[in-house]
Amino acid sequence: MTPTRAPGALLAEHARDRFHDECGVFGVHGHSEASNISYLGLYALQHRGQESAGIVSTDGHSHFVHRGMGLVADVFSEQILQKLPGRHAIGHVRYSTSGESQIRNAQPFFATTDGGPVAIAHNGNLVNARAIRRELEGRGSIFSTTADSEVIVQLLARSREQTLAERLIDALSRVKGAFSLVMLTSDSIIAARDPSGFRPLSLGRLDGAWVVASETCALDLIGASFERDVDPGEVVVIRRGRVRSLRPFKQSSRETFCVFEYIYFARPDSNLNRDNVYRFRKDLGRLLAREFPVKADIVVPVLASGDPAALGFAEESGVPYEQAIIRNHFVRRTFIEPAQSIRHFGVKVKHNAVRGLLKDKRVVLVDDSIVRGTTLIKIVAMVRNAGAREVHLRISAPPTIGPCHYGIDTPTREELIAHEHTIEEIRELMAADSIGYLSLEGLRRATASLKNGFCDACFSGEYPVAIETGETSPQLSLFLDADGDDG
Ligand code: AMP
Repeated sequence: MTPTRAPGALLAEHARDRFHDECGVFGVHGHSEASNISYLGLYALQHRGQESAGIVSTDGHSHFVHRGMGLVADVFSEQILQKLPGRHAIGHVRYSTSGESQIRNAQPFFATTDGGPVAIAHNGNLVNARAIRRELEGRGSIFSTTADSEVIVQLLARSREQTLAERLIDALSRVKGAFSLVMLTSDSIIAARDPSGFRPLSLGRLDGAWVVASETCALDLIGASFERDVDPGEVVVIRRGRVRSLRPFKQSSRETFCVFEYIYFARPDSNLNRDNVYRFRKDLGRLLAREFPVKADIVVPVLASGDPAALGFAEESGVPYEQAIIRNHFVRRTFIEPAQSIRHFGVKVKHNAVRGLLKDKRVVLVDDSIVRGTTLIKIVAMVRNAGAREVHLRISAPPTIGPCHYGIDTPTREELIAHEHTIEEIRELMAADSIGYLSLEGLRRATASLKNGFCDACFSGEYPVAIETGETSPQLSLFLDADGDDG
């Protein structure tokens, strides 16, 4: 069952040859150190994408671009940042799939249009990008990347509207799916969120400048104050220090913010829609303890993703919390494995068990989600090897049964362990004594206390925005419930 991997491929385990990106965006308007601030903002958003990073700045006359493969700290140096002058800048971090792992897909995209130069940084997936791309290619457009975000740039370049803000709105009116984006012109920054509000986007203030960021943890790092979230369907135009709010799109019938941002993807110190992510994860752990109680000696998180839920579980159940699995924080995407194979090398690079804590114990192992199951199978084996008497798995999300089409990188349906197997089969495959996933009803009850509506398609199979294939016309869009490959 466990897929085999080439040596050195451990951290590429979510890499697949598809269009799905996970990204973070950042922008600053009206600050003398715009590119330095952007660098720090991206640094705080690194968890949203580790494959490439980029910043585009402007001094009002020219745009300055730097993009590279790798982590923010590797892509930028003091010397490089000095070559990105100006009071306005936007930035992007991206994690995509192996087939698309190329510098040409690194953002922000920069284009010179007859309305002036623009740079765009996009987070989210467009569900009709393929169809639009075919249409535009048929009319002579030449695409220079394979990223779905480029259709926005191409549509904007072709738009007949007057200003660049109007052109962006025109372009965004044609795309469907998820976008939280920032655009940089010579004198403005424009922030926009799709009408369903899939991905987060917040506004902040710093020394009189305006800041836009995927998550509030980026505002915290640069010392900016949180102003408000960009609303679903809102376009915010920041120019000459003033903010103009537009609502140009057809209203969505309901907001569908990504619940997985709360469960795993966002940083726990961020507030999403003003609700703290850490607190919510801890509440899920409490719920899980109520739904699946178990007699045990210690509650152990799979660090760091399962940590807040494990604390919640421990507090609710009264079973002591112990960090009996330690994580190496400095693991890179690729590493060199010795030719002579080491048992369970892959998982041990990242996690190691604390024998003294686990020996002869009945252990509750808490993680936030199971995707393919490859990580947890190995961790359960590691915990048993360390002498645990019983291992009870508790997952603070429902079974992941479907891929995301709106910007979280999930594998195809067939690769999802919970799509292919019953819960009892998963328990057996994991060699666990018991397993409990938070129920979908439990998750929905928990989210009912939050201020916004949710997309939980990866757990429920209910996709709020239909997926369009390139094969069909947009009018005859096909709802691809059974296929995970189109985005
Ligand atoms: P696995 O079941 O081995 O595929 O990995 C599941 C673990 O990966 C979860 O416990 C999460 O902590 C983490 N995870 C879940 N979704 C993603 C994602 N889209 N990208 C990266 N890591 C993820």
